[in-house]
Amino acid sequence: MSRILIVEDEAKIARFVELELTHEGYEVDKAADGREGVEKALAGDYDLILLDILLPQLNGMEVLRRVRREKDTPVILLTARDAVMDKVAGLDAGADDYITKPFAIEELLARIRVALKRREALAAVAATTAPDASAMTPVETTVLTIQGVSLDVDRHEVTVAGEPVELTNREFEVLKALMENREIVMSRERLAQLACGYDFVGETNIIDVYIRHLRSKIDDRFGIKLITTVRGVGYVIRER
Ligand code: CA
Repeated sequence: MSRILIVEDEAKIARFVELELTHEGYEVDKAADGREGVEKALAGDYDLILLDILLPQLNGMEVLRRVRREKDTPVILLTARDAVMDKVAGLDAGADDYITKPFAIEELLARIRVALKRREALAAVAATTAPDASAMTPVETTVLTIQGVSLDVDRHEVTVAGEPVELTNREFEVLKALMENREIVMSRERLAQLACGYDFVGETNIIDVYIRHLRSKIDDRFGIKLITTVRGVGYVIRER
């Protein structure tokens, strides 16, 4: 039986979710503020954490950071409607998924099942691919280069005209997807799948946020036009 921790200060919501999850067969624990959330998350052995963002004591983002320093328990954020920045920051800080309030309980249950299944799959892969030094052979490094922008897939590094550019994981993944598919117009959905995983079910407008970040870190800073918007379709990187 999977154990779930609900960190939510609104007692009514916490109680409602607790009842539904218990009914589904999950074992449920609750924390009513951020501090209690961190303590329980670190002390307990949970399979998943539902984490509200707006919390007394410590906000959800800070709870997530503190938990991530020690544990990789799957976390689904409960965010306010249209708080796109929260979603982006949350995913970058290591959340597995988010759901916008108010949510239908069926949707929450579906997200929980996906997160738990993904975690099981990762654990299974980790168990079967223990490093075997004798089988390791040097791998050719893959570096994608367009318009002076170089992306080193293995070293996870981006440079422009030799100067390093700091990107978050997801910004890197979006850029990589565009560079690997140069000349092909990529939809927001496709980019979200490639950058956030195939079972990504969130809103694809977060891709616009990553593109904005990439443009400010690369296009604006180095005075180039790397990423082109194709109105109504998506984004593309072209050789010039
Ligand atoms: Ca709250």
